[in-house]
Amino acid sequence: ERTTVLITGCSSGIGLGLAARLAADATGRFKVYATMRDLAKGDRLLERLGGCCPDTLEVLQLDVTDPCSLAAAAQRVQEQQLDVLAVCNAGVGLMGPLETCSDQAMKTVFDVNLFGAVRTIQAFLPAMKRRRAGRIIISSSIGGLQGLPFNSVYCASKFAVEGLCESLAIVLQPFNIHLTLVECGPVNTSFLANLQHPDPEGSELQGLDAETRDLYHRYLRHCQSLFHDTAQEVEDVLPVFLEAISTPCPPLRCVTTQLFAPLSRLRLASPDSTMYVRAMHDFVFGHGEAGGDQP
Ligand code: NAD
Repeated sequence: ERTTVLITGCSSGIGLGLAARLAADATGRFKVYATMRDLAKGDRLLERLGGCCPDTLEVLQLDVTDPCSLAAAAQRVQEQQLDVLAVCNAGVGLMGPLETCSDQAMKTVFDVNLFGAVRTIQAFLPAMKRRRAGRIIISSSIGGLQGLPFNSVYCASKFAVEGLCESLAIVLQPFNIHLTLVECGPVNTSFLANLQHPDPEGSELQGLDAETRDLYHRYLRHCQSLFHDTAQEVEDVLPVFLEAISTPCPPLRCVTTQLFAPLSRLRLASPDSTMYVRAMHDFVFGHGEAGGDQP
């Protein structure tokens, strides 16, 4: 029997790659409901599948901030009375000094990253509980496990997702519903291009103190070279999602890269987090004084 999979945020990046991969599965194991906020962006997915929609795929409109579109998509999927696997993948980033993050930008990040995942899970949980089967997979982030400079609101939203899922997993255990957080490091997608602007007026850095502005510019350079040197391709992270989809007992958390393991270990090794804060500062800004550029 086919597994029904609903994925949010399929117009680009990881969601697009995962939907294409599952819909093209050689043995036709999956019926994929690839959902996206804007159906006009569905062409990329169809192109990936050779231009036509296979019977393993249905594209649905779903904005995770809109409860009505979620209810409609969930109903369409659950008409089938099959075991469902939901992939909460829709997400947005927000970078910048905290002082520059507008209320609107912060609310959007939480509305998509945290409440979007909550709404998606809520839409499928009752049926999963009745069937005593189901899986929920979440695109989380290394930024959900450790703080990252100039990503405080994004990290806060992903930390919230981590707490949400860890708490829920405890209750879902007797229902045979598995929940897995996939912790991605940098991945080559439109994620950086799709960042929320900290301040829609665009005047964000004016009025900010010179030292923070300097640190932020140094962070942006660090981020650029980190992506350049270490970002994974979507194809490289898909196996981690596929494993979470098919392994009999998936773990609550899995990472897509070991790159951040030393920092994570350091964080766990010093529970008061002093060492982590220092090490992360040195990793991003170098060992020099905060004010000057590194040679
Ligand atoms: P992406 O920007 O290509 O994909 C995110 C998708 O979410 C987009 O298709 C976007 O349209 C969609 N989306 C945004 N708001 C939505 C809404 N309200 N309703 C429905 N869809 C919405 O970037 P990606 O890298 O593929 O991101 C996928 C997930 O992976 C995100 O949750 C992101 O936080 C996470 N992640 C990405 C990276 C990275 O470096 N790319 C690292 C860690 C975690």
